[in-house]
Amino acid sequence: MLFTREALEDLLRLHDLSYGLFRWVGSSLSGGSLSFAVVHGATDSAAAAEEWISRNLDNLPRELRPRRGDLVPLSHLFASFLTTSFVLPAAPGVFRDDGSCRCPCCTYLVAAHRLVLRNPTAKDKVQAEKLQILCLEALSESEGVPLSVELRKGVPADPVLGQDLAHLSYAFELRRRSEYASQGTAVLAIWRSIAWENGRLKKKFALSPERILEAQARLAAAVVAA
Ligand SMILES: [Zn+2]
Repeated sequence: MLFTREALEDLLRLHDLSYGLFRWVGSSLSGGSLSFAVVHGATDSAAAAEEWISRNLDNLPRELRPRRGDLVPLSHLFASFLTTSFVLPAAPGVFRDDGSCRCPCCTYLVAAHRLVLRNPTAKDKVQAEKLQILCLEALSESEGVPLSVELRKGVPADPVLGQDLAHLSYAFELRRRSEYASQGTAVLAIWRSIAWENGRLKKKFALSPERILEAQARLAAAVVAA
């Protein structure tokens, strides 16, 4: 199996924390209490996010304070969430002329309340399919069986298995994003396929460990039977 319940609970907690942090930044900008005075230079966005979050820990509401050990994976997720889910508005900066940081991460943060939802492209959707096959390969490896030629061809046509694979792949990419790398906007295409319906977020949508465990079990059985 790729995931235990515990691992999923932890990942989804970081996922929610990352979204909560984004909402909080957006609503706190107008108060003028957020500081962008530390310049991050050429560091990557995850490193910039880590510095920024740790500097603002005391300002965060209690429910958004990361636990010990959360800071690094949360910073990775937060930075990739910002840059893959949104595009900057046409006039991004409301930087004061005081030497505020203009690194990519801070540029997104300063515009957090005005970011525009990104739409996955056709190329993202093709890449999303490849990521889902990679996830299926990892699952079959963990089951100790080779992935069948049939399953290697693409996302299963069966709608239940197709949705299962999207759920499991999203968790798989979530883990990769929290550890080191984002596969970019293709992950957004996977997210839309599980969380959106008719061009908008499904009502009361919440990603649960139970749903992903159910997907994992059904896909593992399909991989072994194929
Ligand atoms: Zn910065």
